[in-house]
Amino acid sequence: MRIDEALATARPFFSFEFFPPKDDAGEVALFATIEALRPLRPAFVSVTYGAGGSARARTVGLAKRIRQDLGLGVLAHATCVGAERAQLRALFDDLSRAGIENVLALRGDPPKGEAADSASGGFQHAGELIAMLARNYHFCIGAACYPETHVEAADAQSDLQHLVEKVQAGAQFLITQLFFDNDAYFAFVARARQAGIRVPILPGVMPITDYRQIDRFIAMCGASIPPKLRVELDARRDEPGAVEDLGVAYATLQCTDLLRRGAPGVHFYTLNRSPATRAIVSALLAASAWRASFS
Ligand code: FAD
Repeated sequence: MRIDEALATARPFFSFEFFPPKDDAGEVALFATIEALRPLRPAFVSVTYGAGGSARARTVGLAKRIRQDLGLGVLAHATCVGAERAQLRALFDDLSRAGIENVLALRGDPPKGEAADSASGGFQHAGELIAMLARNYHFCIGAACYPETHVEAADAQSDLQHLVEKVQAGAQFLITQLFFDNDAYFAFVARARQAGIRVPILPGVMPITDYRQIDRFIAMCGASIPPKLRVELDARRDEPGAVEDLGVAYATLQCTDLLRRGAPGVHFYTLNRSPATRAIVSALLAASAWRASFS
C-alpha cells in the first residue's frame, strides 16, 4: 500500500524501521522480530539502505521478502551519496519490479573523512534524487527531516528552506530524525507549516535500550537528551536492565504526549529488536493513548 493512502486512513499509525542483517543468523532473528511486531498492524515497515557495494541487493531483497512473504507495506530507504545515476536507476528499477511502492529518498552520509560530493552524473543532495524519482517513477516518496537541525546545516533556517525544496520536488511525507524532546518536534512542525510544508511529518522515536549506544547515536545525528532524562540515565549507567526499563517507560510517555498533542502516529527505530517497541505500542493501544482520557 502507498504510504500517502495509508496515512489518510490509519490514524494514529505505527511504523517500524529495520536494517538489513549482515548474515543468515541475523536474518532469522530479524524475521522473528517482525513476526513479534506484526500483530500490532504497522501502517508500514521500513528497510534502511547501508553503505557498501552489497547495499542494493540487501535492501531490495529484504524489502521484497517482507512484502511478499508477510504482506506488509514496505518503505525502502535509498541514498544517493557516491552513487552514479545508472546505479540509482538500477536500484529503483529493482524496487519497482519487486512491487515496492514507497521510497525514502535520502542523501546518505559519505565515508568518514570524505565530502558528500556526487559521483559522476550522480546527486549531491536528496532534493535532486527526489526530483529524479518524481519525474521517472510512480513511487510514493518520503524524505528525512531534522527537528533539531541537520548536523551539517549552516543554520535551522537554511535547513528548513532545503526541506521546503525537497517537498516541492515531490516528497509526500517526512520522517524525523530521532528526538527525545517533544517540544522540539512540535516547534519544528509549526515552523515547517509556516514555511508552507503541508505533508505529514512523522515523528521518529527510538526507545533507549543501551546506555553507551545512545551516546554514539546522538553524537552522530545531533539529537539532544533532555537534562532530567540524562540524570536518570547516568544514575543507571552500570545497570543495563534498568536503562532498558527507563527507556521503555520514557518512550511510552513520550509517544503518549506526541499522540495527545496531535502527531499523526509514531515511526519506531527498532534496531531490529522487538521487546521495547512491542511493549510501548501495546501499551499505547491498550490505553488508546491518543485520547484525552483512558478508555
Ligand atoms: P539532504 O536533504 O540532502 O540534506 C543534507 C544536508 O545538506 C543538510 O544539512 C541540508 O540542510 C543540506 N542541503 C540540502 N539540500 C541542499 C541544497 N540544495 N544546497 C545546499 N545544501 C543543501 N542514512 C543511510 O545511509 N541509510 C538510511 O537508510 C538512512 N535512513 C534515514 C532515515 C531517516 C528517517 C533519517 C532522518 C535519516 C536517515 N539516514 C539514513 C541518515 C541520512 O542519510 C543523513 O542524515 C544524511 O546526512 C542526510 O540525508 P538527507 O536525505 O536528509 O540529506
